[in-house]
Amino acid sequence: MWEEYYSNDYVAAAQRFRDQSQRLMDNDVAYDVQRLVLKEKGPMEEELSIDICLLGDPKANKLLLSTSGIHGVEGYPGSAIQLYVMKEIENEGIPEGVSVAFVHALNPWGMAWLRRVNETNSDLNRNFLPPNEEYLGEPDDYDKVNHLINPSKPPSKNGKMFTSKMFSHILKYGMRRTKQAIAEGQYTRPAALQFGGESLQQGPKLFLAWLDEVLKGADNIMAIDLHTGLGKSGQDTLLLNPGYSQEEIKIIKQRFGKKVAALDSSSIAYRTRGDLHQGLMTRWPNKNWTCITQEFGTFSQLKVLKALRNENAWTQHGNVENIYNHWSRHKLLRTFNPRNDSWREQLLKRGRMLFEEGLLHLLEGE
Ligand SMILES: [Zn+2]
Repeated sequence: MWEEYYSNDYVAAAQRFRDQSQRLMDNDVAYDVQRLVLKEKGPMEEELSIDICLLGDPKANKLLLSTSGIHGVEGYPGSAIQLYVMKEIENEGIPEGVSVAFVHALNPWGMAWLRRVNETNSDLNRNFLPPNEEYLGEPDDYDKVNHLINPSKPPSKNGKMFTSKMFSHILKYGMRRTKQAIAEGQYTRPAALQFGGESLQQGPKLFLAWLDEVLKGADNIMAIDLHTGLGKSGQDTLLLNPGYSQEEIKIIKQRFGKKVAALDSSSIAYRTRGDLHQGLMTRWPNKNWTCITQEFGTFSQLKVLKALRNENAWTQHGNVENIYNHWSRHKLLRTFNPRNDSWREQLLKRGRMLFEEGLLHLLEGE
């Protein structure tokens, strides 16, 4: 029943987004559509682009920035939320005094090729390092966990050995340290998991240049970045990056409720380097930002990690002729975009709810 929002490949998702944008243009709700085209092509030789729809009041100094698909495959559920919200806007319009930018598929290559990373194996949510920071270094404990999560031969499907080895690693080093080592982002091993890139990547460069124009008229920005794979199945967590003071966190919690988790204090979260929102806040420090990463849980953390490990190892060492059709890619897709009706329904409802709360937060702010 949610088929009209959830696409099975990048071509369909991007086309639906462009069609919905066009309907909003025809109704005079949207005022501009744009495409930022990448050099690479998708598995069906299709053009890959970051698609953008701008709507509401072009002169407003309040902007809601909705982004999806910075993590490739996670773009399928992210795209579904954006389509659903845009459909609602087509029916109900948008309040005055605010502009909204829907940015579809920040990593179209990963979305099309069913990977979480981009064409250079870079995790784009670790690629937005502050302008003065070098693409160097790795977390203290990464070398301890490297042999487990980056096997030098393609692993078997069930990975029972991996599960038990991972458990003993966690027993030895603790959950918090293990998570921190794996998730922080590393800039030393280009073929390994959680590589943040060797420089600012093509897609992020295009996006930042576009945003530079848009932000000339906007001082208050509510940014929502859509993700899946972290937390309890079907439930969402609203992650804040470490740039906020305790006072600001309190205010954000009053507006957005108990689901808010600051990245340095919550039990499911960890510190990261180079995430999108940190990248925006450090590039435009004089703007008033409220940035939320909306994360929807899918499966257990170990299951998610296993899918990532399998997919990356098969990609790096598998010598598979048609890797796009390989089980490791499809397993990755289903890990981040489960085929489950109630999960999909819950995701659309919560995605829409946060969008509406975000609009209110902008409209009621000074
Ligand atoms: Zn993600």
